[in-house]
Amino acid sequence: MHRILQSKKLENVCYDIRGPILAQANRMEEAGERILKLNIGNPAPFGFDAPDDILKDVIRQLPTAQGYSDAQGIYSARVAVMQYYQQKGIENIAIEDVYLGNGVSEMITMSMQALLNSGDEVLIPAPDYPLWTAAVNLSSGTAVHYRCDEKAHWFPDIDDIKSKITPNTKAIVLINPNNPTGAVYSPELLNQVVKVARQHNLVIFSDEIYDKVLYDDAQHTCIASLAPDLVCVTFSGLSKNYRVAGFRAGWLLVSGNKKAASSYIEGLTILSSMRMCANVPCQHAIQTALGGYQSINDLVSHDGRLVTQRDLAYERLNAMPGVSCVKPQGAMYCFAKVDAKRFNIKHDVDLILDLLRDRKILLVHGSAFNLHEGTYFRLVFLPHKDILTPALDSMHDFFEHYKRE
Ligand code: PLP
Repeated sequence: MHRILQSKKLENVCYDIRGPILAQANRMEEAGERILKLNIGNPAPFGFDAPDDILKDVIRQLPTAQGYSDAQGIYSARVAVMQYYQQKGIENIAIEDVYLGNGVSEMITMSMQALLNSGDEVLIPAPDYPLWTAAVNLSSGTAVHYRCDEKAHWFPDIDDIKSKITPNTKAIVLINPNNPTGAVYSPELLNQVVKVARQHNLVIFSDEIYDKVLYDDAQHTCIASLAPDLVCVTFSGLSKNYRVAGFRAGWLLVSGNKKAASSYIEGLTILSSMRMCANVPCQHAIQTALGGYQSINDLVSHDGRLVTQRDLAYERLNAMPGVSCVKPQGAMYCFAKVDAKRFNIKHDVDLILDLLRDRKILLVHGSAFNLHEGTYFRLVFLPHKDILTPALDSMHDFFEHYKRE
């Protein structure tokens, strides 16, 4: 048989959040089992409906949104994005600096494809949102992971970052608020990162897709607002803040020393032209979303639905034997540590498969986030309390009796 092989480019590309364990869960569902999927940060299926004005606007614009748009995106949406970042303190930006895409995902891949040559290194947090590592590897770069310190609110370890810089290091990636840890970085920490980036001429890539999903008194700072002299690329979109992940509406903004980045910017323009444009009807949602009533604030206010569920998940996870978790300050995940010795766990995947088989609950293992020290899992706290509570009861019971042979 003449076998058709995947390209060598894909050798180190993986995205385990939707990997073989999800396939196993899907097979169980097909066989008639009910699985509670706490594996993907997709708000809509858990009853987090999008704001009405966003839906209405997309429907209203549908007849006029049949053709391609400008490759970088429609004007009104790009103005809205630009103004949003001006309000967040990013200086000296224009409409040309905004690129709209089919979700942040597309922009992440595009931003790496436009930058990297074979052997170029990019500093990426561990744990990370694994698309970043995958996009670097796909773009023939090398992902070099820096440590985030669980004992310091999961903040990046600046000394570790410094120790991993080589003459090949081109860029550093931050995910703030962080998926999977829920950390929200302080201006002091961000200033330290800026200092390192300045010393070593690194481009800063900042994934800020959860910048409105903030708990307690957490404040979000755009790192680009602290680094007007560097090249910064800031990413966000509608998937989380506005709960329309299926619309695939995201963007990137280039700011700072754009003169130094002119060739890179040309590269971004070529790549965005090659795919014509992002989904046009949903580009119309962007201005309405950013300029309209911010209903996310109700969900994250002190007795809002997301806060209540975060508190429930955080408290119940910490009460489980052998499980602990740092309180998330943003996003929609708890990233919990498991005492592997106590349960005799050799691989985190085994834990996730055992829980899936015994309790019909699907989580994601820590190593899917490129964290290979310790045993962790990520739990999505999006379901309503009346679904989350029995699931957490069941997990508690599971850990009380769990021990691998
Ligand atoms: N960045 C982070 C940190 C995410 O958690 C996600 C989705 O979960 C994405 C990017 C992708 O978002 P989008 O739906 O805009 O492609």
